[in-house]
Amino acid sequence: MVDDVIEMLRQRGLRMTPQRRVIVAEIMRTQGHISPTALAKKVQGDMPGVNASTIYRTLAILEQAGVLAHAHLEGGAEYHRTEDAGHVHLACSRCGTEDDLSLDEAEALQQLIEQHRGFRPDLTHFAISGTCAECQRQLVGG
Ligand SMILES: [Zn+2]
Ligand SMILES: [Zn+2]
Ligand SMILES: [Zn+2]
Repeated sequence: MVDDVIEMLRQRGLRMTPQRRVIVAEIMRTQGHISPTALAKKVQGDMPGVNASTIYRTLAILEQAGVLAHAHLEGGAEYHRTEDAGHVHLACSRCGTEDDLSLDEAEALQQLIEQHRGFRPDLTHFAISGTCAECQRQLVGG
């Protein structure tokens, strides 16, 4: 998997330096999503001295190549592998808990929005902000 991505980047004319290999390996190991800052911290743990701008640029190239997709969560943009990106993010604005809604679950909402002049929403791109069940219980309980 990591080798496939590295090969694909090389075919796109990108020089695969040891730094870039470490960045690709780290991102392909990640489960779920990761913020550019968290990724930079991990990569710099593996290989001190890697420039943050090299990391951001590699993320952008991986996104252009279709390997990664970003979504906007409560704390800012985060990346996940494109094959894992097909879900709607639910973010609690009180405690920060995140949950996922499958595209099947979001189907009715999608259709409802499309009825508004045919606008087709991309519900995966921005998180839906709200209050989780646990926080609602705490708010009621006082
Ligand atoms: Zn965006
Ligand atoms: Zn996600
Ligand atoms: Zn909450």
